[in-house]
Parts: sequence; C-alpha cells; structure tokens
Amino acid sequence: MLKIAIIGSGTMGNGIAHVFAQNGYQVSLVDINEQSLEKALIIISKNLDRQVNKEVISSDKKKSTLSNIKTFTNLKEGVESADLVVEAATENESIKLNIFKELDQLSPQKAILATNTSSISITKIAAATNRPEKVIGMHFMNPVPIMKLVEVIRGYNTSDETTLQIMSLSKNLGKVPVEVNDYPGFVANRILMPMINEAIYSLQEGVAGVEEIDTVMKLGMAHPMGPLQLADFIGLDVCLSILKVLYEGFGNPKYAPCPLLINMVQAGHKGVKSGSGFYIHTPGNKDLVVAEQFKKLHH
Ligand code: NAD
Repeated sequence: MLKIAIIGSGTMGNGIAHVFAQNGYQVSLVDINEQSLEKALIIISKNLDRQVNKEVISSDKKKSTLSNIKTFTNLKEGVESADLVVEAATENESIKLNIFKELDQLSPQKAILATNTSSISITKIAAATNRPEKVIGMHFMNPVPIMKLVEVIRGYNTSDETTLQIMSLSKNLGKVPVEVNDYPGFVANRILMPMINEAIYSLQEGVAGVEEIDTVMKLGMAHPMGPLQLADFIGLDVCLSILKVLYEGFGNPKYAPCPLLINMVQAGHKGVKSGSGFYIHTPGNKDLVVAEQFKKLHH
C-alpha cells in the first residue's frame, strides 16, 4: 500500500487525510501549526462519527481510519518515506513554491508530488522541483469525504505515467477523476467563477435581488445552491483572487472581477467565514437571510 503525506491540515487537508485513511492508506498529516493538526483530528473524528451514525461505516472502521493517520510538524519526518505527497497548504504562490522546493529535497526520488491548488499554475509549481514529470494537480472538492470529483491537472511536463497513477489512485478512493490541462482556473473554476461574477454583476446592475438571482439558478438550472450563496460558502476573497488569476492569466476583460465583489472584500464581507456576504451567516442558523445592504438596494 502506498504511503501518503499530506501537507496542510486545514479544511481540505483534513478531508483528504480522512479519505485516504478510510481507504486503508498510511497517512502522514503535516502542518506548521500544531493547533491546526489537533483541530484536524477532532474534525476527522466527528465526520467519521457522522458516517457511523448513518451506518455508512462501522465503529471498527472509524478506529482503523484514525489509527492510519499520524501527525507531524516537521516536514522531513512527515515526507521522508512517502510514495505520494498531496500539498493542501494555504493558497499562496510563494508558500507553495517553497514547499515544493523542500519536498523535492526531502521526499524519496520516486515520490509523486501533487498539489490541491485551486488556481496556481501546476507548471510553475513543478518548475520549483527537479522532477516536473512527477508533479501534478490533484484538485479535490470541498467537503472532500462527500464530493466525488477529483480534477487531475497535467502540468506542461507531467508524464503519462504520473497521470495514470493519480487517475487510478483517485478511483481507488471511490472518486471520479477527470483529466484536464494546465490553463488558468483549470476547468472547474474557469467555468464556475465567471458564473459567480456574472451573478454579482446582475445584482450590481439591479437586474434582480440576491434571492431572485439564486432562485433562478436553483430552480431554473437545478443547481443545489444559487451562485451568490455558493460564493459566500467558498469565500468572497477566494472568489476574487481566482478571478484575478483568470483575468491576468488570459488578459481578457471578460474575467474582470465585478467592482461590487471587490468592494465587499475590501469591506471585510467575505461570506460564511466573516459572518456576512450576500447573506448573513449566524452559527447554528441554516435559514437564508439576505444581508441588510441588499435588502435596501433592491427595488
Ligand atoms: P486552510 O487555510 O483551511 O488550511 C491551510 C493549512 O495550511 C493551515 O492549517 C496552515 O497552517 C497550513 N500551512 C500553511 N503553510 C504551511 C506550510 N509551509 N507547511 C505546512 N502547512 C502549512 O486552507 P484550505 O481551504 O484547506 O485550502 C488548502 C488548499 O486547497 C489551497 O490551495 C486551496 O486553494 C485549495 N482548495 C480549497 C478548497 C476549499 O473549498 N477550501 C477547495 C478546493 C481546493
């Protein structure tokens, strides 16, 4: 069985660790922040409890899953015997380039180095290593234990062998991998973010209000969540930074972030994580309440 190292134990890293461990892989979960590791183990345990309660897994399976995960704050110790490293650290280019430089030195020569980045060029990350043929995007979706898709992104130099291994490994995790090439936003965000941006332009122009826009897309297109609600869930700052990547990467004004989105991020309204965005988010309350600003705006 392959040994897996996961770098970053935040939202995505703990989900990725959960899924590999549940499928019998030995997982080393690495983070520079000890508290983040502690929190990750608590979240994984709670998510496993939910699966036990729904009778998706047995309580023995929960125990064996947890026993497959070891945590590390030292990168070398975490990756020195890894066959595959999946990096899911903070979405920041210089952080990722540094991590990949170190991974190239600290992990075995045969190891594949994958990144869960949403928007940074796989080719650029690969160029920070001496093994660009073994560097690949493995883009899981949030929440990882539930979402089936893995967008498998080939950098300019990624080999067929690396791609095949990651495609087949993703299937072993019960996921559906889709192979795509390395262009800004890959496929998921290249299509999703302009849709969200257009929804925000429609709101800014007064075409319709928050609830109306989301209802059209939910009931008209059978989307489980409207684009404005989804933007709040993803984080408006994250949406803005991915749109900037698309705008700069293609040099095409059609990707220009909507001024209303820029204003909201500058004002600290980042969606669920800050308590307000297009909607107000209060812990424990699942009802959708439109933010005050947009009640006033709509005529
Ligand atoms: P997060 O902020 O929840 O977690 C990031 C973790 O990385 C933190 O625990 C932090 O301490 C750790 N970290 C930072 N620098 C590190 C380093 N040098 N070494 C080890 N750990 C380090 O972030 P997240 O939402 O889990 O996102 C992680 C990655 O996944 C990003 O690249 C993001 O673009 C991508 N992604 C996120 C989502 C999502 O919905 N959140 C979806 C798909 C992909």
